Formats: sequence, structure tokens, C-alpha cells
Amino acid sequence: MLKFEIALKKVLDKTKILNPEEVPLDKSVDCVLAENIKASIDLPPFNKSAMDGYALRSIDLKSIPQQLKCLGTVKPGKVFKREIKKGECAKIMTGSAMPEGSDSVIMIEFTEKDRKPGGVRVLKGTQKSENVCFKGEDVKKGTDVLKKGMLLRGPEVAIAAALGRKKLKVYRKPRVAILNTGDEIVQPGKNLAGNKIYNSNGPMLLSLLSSIDIEVDYLGIVKDKKEDLRKMIKKGLRDDIFLLSGGVSMGEFDLVPKVLKECTVKQVFHKISMKPGKPVFFGTKKSGLIFGIPGNPVSTYLIFLVLIKTVIEKMMGRIPHLDIRRGILKEDFKQKPDKRKHFIPAKVFRKGEQLYVFPIKGYHGSADIASLSLANAFMIVEGTVSFLKKNSRVQILLW
Ligand code: AMP
Ligand code: MG
Repeated sequence: MLKFEIALKKVLDKTKILNPEEVPLDKSVDCVLAENIKASIDLPPFNKSAMDGYALRSIDLKSIPQQLKCLGTVKPGKVFKREIKKGECAKIMTGSAMPEGSDSVIMIEFTEKDRKPGGVRVLKGTQKSENVCFKGEDVKKGTDVLKKGMLLRGPEVAIAAALGRKKLKVYRKPRVAILNTGDEIVQPGKNLAGNKIYNSNGPMLLSLLSSIDIEVDYLGIVKDKKEDLRKMIKKGLRDDIFLLSGGVSMGEFDLVPKVLKECTVKQVFHKISMKPGKPVFFGTKKSGLIFGIPGNPVSTYLIFLVLIKTVIEKMMGRIPHLDIRRGILKEDFKQKPDKRKHFIPAKVFRKGEQLYVFPIKGYHGSADIASLSLANAFMIVEGTVSFLKKNSRVQILLW
């Protein structure tokens, strides 16, 4: 059976970066920039005050205290028409343009009102340029500020906005279709009569995708009937990624791989040597990637973390990366051995540089969402290992 690492490589080999598209600035965060951006203007675009205070000529403060005549107030975003000459100043707010003739700002805290109307007493000396932000000191017009391939976070979005950009060219986010399969699956809120169970995978996948701002075509639940499946599969195949949960193992009603192939999906693999998640199916149709995920929710969650999320990252131009770290196992650990790679829900605590790993007690397999919800990581142990002593170093995948 296919090793996990090889399966992941096969999936990533079939994953192509999507074409760039223009998106509004507020939709660009966490996307990868698909253009180089040169500064079209200086930042700041004019010399401005860094403080609330008085703009003046530093040369006028040779002796302290010093009386100056205030010509008025320089408001932010307004042009102050008068020039500051010998013995004069203007009240100024943070972010306002330095008036002509002034070269320094004295903070309001170091001044007081003078007895003379319109007069200011300055109590402290200053130097030229003090409390002044100079035109272009943050970014010079013409410099390369944002480079193609950069991940856009808040600060990069702020720079683009400061340069006046409304839209940015980024690698497109994939559109994902979700289809849940199974005669026994019922949407939450409906009646459970007749040995049915509620659909956990649909809402889980939807919310995981929504948390990374991926648009979803949710196709609902389909019965384990070839005709019904075929109809819904045709719809799901229009998207960049198609996720089907359930119906991929060896049961009589596990029809998903068969119907996918009838719909000309090319199988890349069916089954990975991992636990849980073994029966996972992966195929392609044109540029679309199709995942048939085993129906038990722990399997679905794991496959989302290790394969789907990784694929989405690559399609968006990010460097796909499984953040597998090392931690210290804090309890003896036993498992039934086999040849697969085991992913065990675990609680990981950080203390200084160390990560301490506690496998969830009583975890009893891929349907056990209660244990999954107590965890914040999967501990990864080769199935050939039947026992690990407390304080062994183990691999973990943190969520
Ligand atoms: P399957 O992969 O269809 O063989 O299903 C494996 C197990 O997962 C069965 O116990 C199913 O009832 C359960 N299952 C399948 N789909 C879902 C779902 N959407 N939500 C919760 N459990 C599911
Ligand atoms: Mg099923």
C-alpha cells in the first residue's frame, strides 16, 4: 500500500498553482501576490508632523523660554497657506503637513499660552527636523515594495492601501465542492428515526474551509445509489477541488470510486498506508482534483489537514508545508501494531521551548469525535512500533 509521504507527493505533483486574478484589497489577505509592486508615490507623500504641537523654526529657540506668535492651526489634510517667518509658529496636529518655513515641531506639552493674545511660550529647545516625518522616508517613490510571490498579511495590505491600490493581482483561491454520501446520513435539525446519524462531515468541512475563506459549493447529502451519485458527481466536478465524504471503502454500498471513474475521473491512488484515513481515493479530471474521503469524521478531519489544506495552499501559490514537529511523550503509549502510519489525537502543551505530548486517553478510533475535540494535535507514530516509553521523542502535527 502507498506510503503516506509518497501519497502526499503524488497529490502535490498533480496540484498546479491557479491563474492570477484581481481581488479587492480586503480580500487579498493570506493570498500570494502575483505582481511586483513599485511605489507610485512617496510615503509619506509630504513632510508631516509626528506630534501634536507647534511647527516653528528651530533657529528661533536659541534662548528658552521663548515667545512666538502663532499664525493659526495646521489641520490634517488641509493646505496651510502662510509661511512661518522669524518669531512665528503654527499650531499643528499629528499627520498635518509642515507649513512652509518651519523645520521642527515642539510638543504641546513643552509649551504654554502666552499672556499676549495669539502668543505661545516655548519652554524647551529643539533641533532641526525634530518630530518631523520626511516625504519618502518610509518608502521612496519608484522602489520595489512588494514582490511577486509574497504572502499578503495585514502589513502588506496596509502598504498597498497607502500607495492607493484598490485591487491586487493574486493567485486565485480554489473553489471547492463538497458532497456527503450515505443512506444513513441526515442533516442536523432533521428527524433521526430509523437508525440514521447526523452529518458531521459536511458542517465540519464547510467550517474548516470558511475559516480559511475558501468558497464552497455545498451539494448536500446523496444516497448510496449510483444514479443519484452520478448526477451529483457531475456537479462537483466543475470545481477546482471536489471533496466527497463516505462510500470509499470495501462495503457493498461504497460506490464512490466506481462512479467517479465512470465519470472519467482518473484514479491516482485508492488507499494510503495510514490510520485513520486508509481508504482515501484521489483522482483528477482535467485540472480538477477529486478526493474521496472515508466517512468517519476523524478520518475526514485528518485528510483535510494533511492533504486538502496542503493542496489549497499550493494552488494559492503558497509553499505547501506540513508543520510536523517533535515533542516529548509524557506517558507510556501502547498500540496495536500494523504497517501503517498512525495519527493519534493528542493534547500538546508548550512549556518554554519544549512541547509535551499527551495522547488522548480512551481514544477508540476514527468515529471518536469526542476524543478529537479534546486534542490539539495528532501524534504520529509508525504502526510497527507497539510501545513507546514516557519521555520518548515523538512527531506531532499541531492544528
Ligand atoms: P463510509 O466511509 O461510508 O464507509 O462510512 C464510514 C463511517 O462513517 C460509517 O459509520 C458512516 O456512518 C460514517 N459517516 C459517513 N459519512 C458521515 C458523515 N457525513 N458524518 C458522520 N459520519 C459519517
Ligand atoms: Mg457510507
